[in-house]
Amino acid sequence: MSSTVFEESSVFFQLSKCSHQSVVFCSDEDTGLKAIIAIHDTTLGPAFGGTRMWAYRSETEALKDVLRLSRTMTYKAAISGLNLGGGQAVIIGDNRAGKSEALMRRYGRFIKNLNGSFITAEDLGTDTKDMEYIRVETSYVAGLPESLGGSGDPTPVAAKGVLLGIKACVKEVFGTDSLAGRSVAVQGIGHVGENLVRLLRDENVQVFVSDINEDRLRQVAKKYGATPVSNNNILDLEFDVFAPCALGGIINTDTIQKMKCAIIAGSANNQLADEDLHGQMLLEKGILYAPDYLINAGGMINCYSELQSAYSRKRTMQLAENIYAATRSVLKKSREENISTSRAAAIIAEKRIADIKKIKGSY
Ligand code: NAD
Repeated sequence: MSSTVFEESSVFFQLSKCSHQSVVFCSDEDTGLKAIIAIHDTTLGPAFGGTRMWAYRSETEALKDVLRLSRTMTYKAAISGLNLGGGQAVIIGDNRAGKSEALMRRYGRFIKNLNGSFITAEDLGTDTKDMEYIRVETSYVAGLPESLGGSGDPTPVAAKGVLLGIKACVKEVFGTDSLAGRSVAVQGIGHVGENLVRLLRDENVQVFVSDINEDRLRQVAKKYGATPVSNNNILDLEFDVFAPCALGGIINTDTIQKMKCAIIAGSANNQLADEDLHGQMLLEKGILYAPDYLINAGGMINCYSELQSAYSRKRTMQLAENIYAATRSVLKKSREENISTSRAAAIIAEKRIADIKKIKGSY
């Protein structure tokens, strides 16, 4: 037994918390690439997860993010009935000024070396063009442009799933899944957020938007007739639904105290700073929370379809439509067992993984 002490910020300490299978650090002087690929669990299939590009303040922050996100991907695939494991990658850098063809292709070569145990796609800060560069070096990438035989941008499907999740929650709280006249605040109007705003507007929702990118905020608000609100006080305002579509960790002990919404349902991964603690706090406060990995699975579903033989938009949309029923089941379990919605979703996901693990062990 080793007597080495691992501090909280150490890689091994972080790894031991969620039983990850492996973590790969990618560094390249010439292109400036600094990336981390985390593989959480491959019971259900090869690890699948997006590549996030973000100017993290520290290596520890990037490591924590990639470990949490890759675990979330395991749960997302499991609860969505997909035969994929969970993984994630982060590239440390500015996603507006720090990208280049060489950097993305060099990163693609690291993925290639993993021989199919990790497959990636878009996430916050990356887009189809980046996937196109990665594809030059490896076939273990999805979310490719349609011109390359891919499924194109996954974010419209991701947004559609979020809309269905919002409807399932509205049905639970207000007794009808019609969104007409409801108020929804979308925080982060990037790829998924903008698509969600468009879908909400089509349902005659009163839409409020916020973003740290002021230009984007003005443009999107004008394009869809949404009301811009300051990112600083979005949590103080009263809406039927708060839809976090930016970064994770937005729901924490401080923010829950301020929140006045009836429902939280958005696309951002890892919205709860602490799944158990904050899931329970929301239950006690009477705010209905749609587990993020449950309702934002549309992007993963889209890429999953792309990875199966011929991509069919119709089949993808049918799979994404299941998000409504899956959300209703989680809400029902939470209500009947008086447990938080995040716990209810985790129980369902963990059961599928455990069941399949038993089958795999039998041959
Ligand atoms: P994106 O980079 O296109 O957009 C993110 C937006 O959020 C940007 O406009 C950015 O300016 C804004 N933002 C960042 N920090 C903010 C803050 N503190 N407050 C307000 N706005 C802020 O990213 P995306 O692809 O739309 O992804 C958004 C979220 O949804 C991420 O958490 C991502 O993991 C998750 N998600 C994405 C997909 C996908 O297919 N892209 C699928 C499922 C879930």
